[in-house]
Amino acid sequence: MKCAAFTVLLLAAVSVHAQTATPGPGVPLDLATRRAANVSDLRYELSLSIPATLASPLTGSATLRFTLKDPSQPLVLDFETSPEHVRSVEANDRAAAFTYVNGHIVVPSAALVAGGNSVRIVFDAGDASLNRSADFLYTLFVPARARLAVPVFDQPDLKGRWSVTLEHPASWQSAANGAELERTTAGDRTRVRFAETNPLPTYLVAFICGDFRIETAVRGGRTFRMFHRESDVAKVARNKDAIFDLHARALEYLERYTDIPYPFGKFDFALIPAFQFGGMEHAGNVFYSAPGLMLDESATQDDMLGRASTIAHEVAHMWFGDLVTMRWFDDVWMKEVFANFMAAQVVNPSFPTVNHDLRFLLSNYPSAYEVDRTPGANPIRQPLDNLQEAGSLYGSIIYQKAPVVMRHLEAVLGDDNFRDGLREYLKGHAFSNATWADLIDVLDRRTAVDLQQWSRAWVNEPGRPTVTTELASRNGVVQRLAFRQDDPRGRGLTWPQQLRVAIGMATGEQTMTVELSGAAAEVPRAAGLAVPRYILPAGGGWAYGDFVVDQGSLDYLAANLPDVDDALTRGSAWVTLWDAMLDGRLRPDVFIDLGLRALPRETDEQLTSRILRYTSRTWWRFLAPAEREARAARYESVLRQGLAGAATPSRKAAWFGTLRRVALTPGTVGWLRQVWEKTETVTGLPLAETDYSTLAQELAVRQVDGWKDVLDTQLRRIENADRKGQFQFVMPALSADPRDREQWFLSLSDVNNRRREPWVLEGLEYLHHPLRAESSKRFVRLSLDMLWDIQKTGDIFFPRNWLVATLSGDNTRDVADVVRAFLRDLPANYPERLRAITLQSADELFRAADIVRR
Ligand SMILES: [Zn+2]
Repeated sequence: MKCAAFTVLLLAAVSVHAQTATPGPGVPLDLATRRAANVSDLRYELSLSIPATLASPLTGSATLRFTLKDPSQPLVLDFETSPEHVRSVEANDRAAAFTYVNGHIVVPSAALVAGGNSVRIVFDAGDASLNRSADFLYTLFVPARARLAVPVFDQPDLKGRWSVTLEHPASWQSAANGAELERTTAGDRTRVRFAETNPLPTYLVAFICGDFRIETAVRGGRTFRMFHRESDVAKVARNKDAIFDLHARALEYLERYTDIPYPFGKFDFALIPAFQFGGMEHAGNVFYSAPGLMLDESATQDDMLGRASTIAHEVAHMWFGDLVTMRWFDDVWMKEVFANFMAAQVVNPSFPTVNHDLRFLLSNYPSAYEVDRTPGANPIRQPLDNLQEAGSLYGSIIYQKAPVVMRHLEAVLGDDNFRDGLREYLKGHAFSNATWADLIDVLDRRTAVDLQQWSRAWVNEPGRPTVTTELASRNGVVQRLAFRQDDPRGRGLTWPQQLRVAIGMATGEQTMTVELSGAAAEVPRAAGLAVPRYILPAGGGWAYGDFVVDQGSLDYLAANLPDVDDALTRGSAWVTLWDAMLDGRLRPDVFIDLGLRALPRETDEQLTSRILRYTSRTWWRFLAPAEREARAARYESVLRQGLAGAATPSRKAAWFGTLRRVALTPGTVGWLRQVWEKTETVTGLPLAETDYSTLAQELAVRQVDGWKDVLDTQLRRIENADRKGQFQFVMPALSADPRDREQWFLSLSDVNNRRREPWVLEGLEYLHHPLRAESSKRFVRLSLDMLWDIQKTGDIFFPRNWLVATLSGDNTRDVADVVRAFLRDLPANYPERLRAITLQSADELFRAADIVRR
């Protein structure tokens, strides 16, 4: 009921601008709202000719057919290129006197009629969202980047049926959202006509074209096609069945859970080198980052779980996002939360030996906390007044915090009730749009809990509670136990949730459930118990917050964490202790020494890999060089023993990956070099081309003798053209000559040199490697100054990843001050979200600079 009030408020804000004649840049909310109210029954016929060379643009035409309610207003289309890109515009079969304003084509009302209209535009496509390489291209239109290539109504609530025709070099392959209907070849050109799609928002429209190989498989009566560019035949053979199986299992699960058959007919997917994301859920035409799916023999368990999750995530989007789409990108979190939430369930049966509660904890809570503990944290649901800012909504809060909140919500409603609510929601809005209010409306009817109220702090506000354990005891007996929550931002918010408290007694562990719905919860049943070894309110991997445990528990866990029997409790304890270290309640040397003691005893593979990650992060970020020096031999010996003793290649890969990242002593670096030279082997771990490439890079950044030969030799060794290109691109960032590194960095000011985002990020990480931090300091301010441009020209995750890569190698006050000065100097019109992302990304640096100095 409160949602209705919210909607009214939104419409009132909109009508203020409704009269403006000139559409503003991007896709403003008022334009989108008016357009959605006026346009319906939308169809696109898109025809594009794709040249064989990069030098010429794609040319083509788009015919839009639609019904207009009110033709008295000019019609605004989005085409963010330049006036020269527009060759002609016809409305209802007559040339239209259009104007080109702020990235829009405006068709005068005189050319329009009430009811059915058609607008045909002949144009040169813009390149910005076409990702063109010499021998292939792929579109990436999310969140509102279709308009950078072709003329459209670029908003999620104007869904259209798309008929696409592509004309391209005859030797190339192609795929679009619709099934291939007809293929004709004349000379060296081929023309492919694709079937009309079900209604799709522009951000889900996609095609690929180029030099791809195609693998086909039938699973459960459905044909899947995989487009890829992998030249290693054995690698394809090793991976393809698993990839097809994971897709088929995810589809089958989602069909059963939603009770709705797969809505988009055929199912193709493409593995793209240097893809900007892990995957993108284009209806019937999913794109993935190739290395995430095509795994090497040296893949870790994390890699395998990650692949299964990514596939399940994109498949879940076919229902959550593609079939039912958010009305506006302020609700983009809804599609992401369900994709991740469903993915967690889909993946379980494929990995029967994995502890999935632990997996949920480790894959969601730490990343969500990374943002939520910072002053730049954003709420799950964020207001948005222009789609050109939509990219900056994405991040860990949407992907990792929202699934935690959704799991709590599922528990409030009960599994079956929750599932039935989702089915009703999906069926009620199929091939259309919905908002958070629509979902709450469906779920509210199924519970006595006021969900609007329940979700207020969780969904609409940033941050997390600080949950403090209050323990009083006398003579070893508990007098009082309570948990208090505080809002660290001083807003007085409370986050209703259940605490599944792990209590460690000498006789074993107990779990106590405590409802923390207000400011504090007393636990009277604890009085009279012997004082436990530890009390861990996050113990069951359930509650969300910054847990300030009592001093006795902190001391016990910092000394004896490996003695805790239950793996989920150990996982929760690690996450809690990491927070304690960042908050200054636990010293980093104590934390890393605990890690070094725990590693040889840890039996759970997920936890081993988490502890490896925590130790290596503490190593580079939170220890001063002298502290590293003092521990290097011991750390490396723990890692080499772990590597030798690990039972499977995936476990060995995790140990080896860490050793390669942290090695400092001449003995270990020399051994790694012999491995790279192939005069030494890692027993039981088959290394792949990418392993040798990483080894070469790690050797180079340590400036081993002949580092340049190492890189040159490795470049010659790489057979796959895409991977060769990437390695070559990163090489100057690894040079021992500071002039090479500077030149490489400066070249990034040209947008054309940063189109392949994963390549740029890899180079930046080596440029700012902790061993090079001193000489790379001077690039930090320049990097920060480029951020706004990075956001305007790059894809969704690029600004944040750019910052993280830039700041990841440093822990000094100097660089922290550079970031603070940048934040202080920002102009008034600087995008608020970009400022927030800077605060999020710099948080660990700020903390490290304080901690290391102490
Ligand atoms: Zn997603």
